[in-house]
Amino acid sequence: MSVNGAPFSYLTGLECTNCGLSHDADAPNNVCRVCGKVLYARYDLASARRTLDRDCFRDRPADLWRYHELLPIRQPDNVITLGEGVTPLLRMPRLGESLGLKNLWMKDESLNPTGSFKARGMAVAVSRARELGLKRLAAPSAGNAGAALATYAARAGLEAWIFMPADTPRVPLIECRLAGARAFVLDGLINDAGRIVRSRSSWFDVSTLREPYRVEGKKTMGYELAEQFAWSLPDAIIYPTGGGTGLVGMVKAFDEMETLGWIGSKRPRMYSVQSSGCAPIVRAFEAGRRDAPIWENARTIASGLRVPAAIGDYLMLDAIRRTDGVALAVDDDEIMAATDLVAVREGAWLSPEGAATICAAQRLREDGTLKAHETVVLFNTGGGMVYPDLQSATLPRVAIDGRDVPECDP
Ligand SMILES: *Cc1c(COP(=O)(O)O)cnc(C)c1O
Ligand SMILES: [Zn+2]
Repeated sequence: MSVNGAPFSYLTGLECTNCGLSHDADAPNNVCRVCGKVLYARYDLASARRTLDRDCFRDRPADLWRYHELLPIRQPDNVITLGEGVTPLLRMPRLGESLGLKNLWMKDESLNPTGSFKARGMAVAVSRARELGLKRLAAPSAGNAGAALATYAARAGLEAWIFMPADTPRVPLIECRLAGARAFVLDGLINDAGRIVRSRSSWFDVSTLREPYRVEGKKTMGYELAEQFAWSLPDAIIYPTGGGTGLVGMVKAFDEMETLGWIGSKRPRMYSVQSSGCAPIVRAFEAGRRDAPIWENARTIASGLRVPAAIGDYLMLDAIRRTDGVALAVDDDEIMAATDLVAVREGAWLSPEGAATICAAQRLREDGTLKAHETVVLFNTGGGMVYPDLQSATLPRVAIDGRDVPECDP
């Protein structure tokens, strides 16, 4: 399939984000073979600029594959999809009023298959893995990545090996089991699970940023945001960061779009939110470091943020600094309060990671970092329904004849 003689993908190769070394994109690759750092997919953006018009996307299907020229799959038949991407960008007027922000928006990633934005990354990574002839994929996960890997691997007919902390929320564990993945729990965290994955060479490791194409799926959040805001980007983006792919993926998308001539040089300020129980990026940001040492005894209800060490630490820290953003930590009890606030004010049940962005917006507004008129986008990276154990389901009971139903408020 090609449009105006254009290839389905403009992928040219993989490039190390640290030493710049090129790697063959048409062979399986994980990290840089020389320095061990993160590889990024590169595209022939000069040709794409000549053949692609930014207004072509609105006539295409409402999923992330509308950006296929800028994704790494070469043959359309290799696309494995459940309709991920092109999620709603919602105005949040009543929450904005509470926070003193007149132009507050939420990108609602909970509408993705499997209930989180991890579907974007895994749809692309699994499609590309199948295209490259890989059969057996493995990943450590805090829950949502495992659920997405299990789901897309099932759809692709590939084997998935998944290792998760034993206290991972129930829903992703169910999703893994149901999809027939070889899924296991352990008494440890995602970095311990990662060591198990790296111990066997018969698996292809699809860990966050140790595999170059999950970030390509996640970068589509950046393309969508530009398209949904009619190619003018917001002033600020607040993003809950664990491994960091969502945040760095969007920044990659903005850079690509500038090269494509679709946006200017202005960038949203990128705010990274972590939980105060696991905040390695915040600590590194505050210390002026470009690497984030491991966070000991990580604990937080926001399981997607329970990532004690991230291979993409330097990419996140560079992105935050380069865009004049900040990394900040919020407490779990603030997250629970924010979950209630947004549910009551906007009718949205957010994941704890998504709710953390509200706490951050509040803090950044109070200290004047965010101005009242600025356009601010919060990312709800997953649905509250994935974490039912965080909420009570107890309601007042009434008699079957309704005699004790309370009066309406005057
Ligand atoms: C994985 C996850 C995150 C963190 O995303 P990264 O891109 O790894 O930083 C945030 N929220 C939810 C719901 C997640 O599942
Ligand atoms: Zn390198």
